[in-house]
Amino acid sequence: MLLEQERAQLVEYCRRMQADDLTVGTSGNLSIRRGDHVAVTPSGAAYEDLTPASICVIDMDGEQLEGTLAPSSEVPMHTTVYRRTDAQAVVHTHPLYATALSVLVDELPPVHYMIALLGGPVRVAPYATYGSPELAENMVAAMEGRSGVLLQNHGATTHGPDLAKAYTRSVYLEWLCRLHHQASLLGSPHLLAGDEIARVAEKLEGYGRPAPGR
Ligand code: 13P
Ligand code: ZN
Repeated sequence: MLLEQERAQLVEYCRRMQADDLTVGTSGNLSIRRGDHVAVTPSGAAYEDLTPASICVIDMDGEQLEGTLAPSSEVPMHTTVYRRTDAQAVVHTHPLYATALSVLVDELPPVHYMIALLGGPVRVAPYATYGSPELAENMVAAMEGRSGVLLQNHGATTHGPDLAKAYTRSVYLEWLCRLHHQASLLGSPHLLAGDEIARVAEKLEGYGRPAPGR
């Protein structure tokens, strides 16, 4: 079986995605890239029933190499990210606050310094039908210089150098959307300047690392 470890990791994170309320029903999909191969969740499968054997393996053209279930309908989204960036994992979800904002705004503004984790203000990609190459194109264009994006009237996507980081970015993105929503209920949020976001992005590179010399 190809990509055994990656399959197990995807099943673990699918369960997490449900527990963390980052998606609803069978919505969303996750993938990990290893060279020319991509392990990706199957289409429309109940997350609670997934096992490593139900994960599909495809190549970079989207051709299915392993798995009896059909791969995610969003394969073009995943392979387009892998072709255009050095990401090794992609997380696509339909979380409530991110999706609510995607219906209303063109960009999630810098309401908190942790938006630096996503590269700055998070853009909203124009709507296109789910699973279409057009959606994949709109998404990757709106993600330029960012590791996260909102998809108009649809949801959110993040990527990263591994699944843990891509997933953490999704958790923060949803939290930032929720924060923006909560603050906006009370008034007009103060925003952070671009140079502050750049400073924080630099600081975050060393964040969570062991103390120097340890
Ligand atoms: P799949 O179940 O085919 O992965 O699709 C879910 C989804 O989120 C479509 O955008
Ligand atoms: Zn979706």
